[in-house]
Amino acid sequence: MDLPIDIDSVKGFMPANEGEALYQAALREASNGPVLEVGTYCGKSAVYLGTACKACGQVLFALDHHRGSEENQPGWEHHDPETWDADAGAMDTLPFLRRTLRSAELERSVVPIIGDSATVAKHWATPLAMLFIDGGHSTEAAHLDFDIWTPHVMPGGLLAIHDVFPNPEDGGRPPYEIYLKALESKKYVEEAMEGSLRLLRRDG
Ligand code: SAH
Ligand code: MG
Repeated sequence: MDLPIDIDSVKGFMPANEGEALYQAALREASNGPVLEVGTYCGKSAVYLGTACKACGQVLFALDHHRGSEENQPGWEHHDPETWDADAGAMDTLPFLRRTLRSAELERSVVPIIGDSATVAKHWATPLAMLFIDGGHSTEAAHLDFDIWTPHVMPGGLLAIHDVFPNPEDGGRPPYEIYLKALESKKYVEEAMEGSLRLLRRDG
């Protein structure tokens, strides 16, 4: 894997081994159609996925409202003061994403969608070769993302879920719950795992 930028210079939450697994998966899937990620932050996972999409002549839709998840807010564990927009009185990670995409020469291959996940999903109609869920991690947000976005994964396509921690001591439960929900639906079979990343094949 040859990334177009120094990935350590991009703020975000994607360990290199998991990013590589995302890249390899997208490289295999993107010849069948576009990829969409829910939860982009400053573009770290988008560099891995987008670089693979670019190689396939495909696009990554990178969806985020750029106001941060609960755990990114001031006073929480994953807050970065540089992402605070004092004028707005809110977080704004969009300028960081734009910088990441420009430096990585991915502006034609990664299409940012700036909006609320559920609002965008309501109007979405394009079948996805691969869906990566890494948005809000509250129970409500994770289940909503699963329920509204997974119907758009094409039969035979790939569903990737991040931050799946079977052991509660390692992290929050909702991503693990939707991973179980996918398996229990009998529409997905587990294909691979890397760290907290799970890759599931839609076969129904
Ligand atoms: N994939 C990123 C990390 C994503 S962090 C990386 O590789 O670094 C989770 C992101 O989900 C945050 O940027 C937050 O703004 C976004 N998010 C949370 N809830 C959302 C919602 N309802 N709609 C759109 N984006 C949301
Ligand atoms: Mg994550």
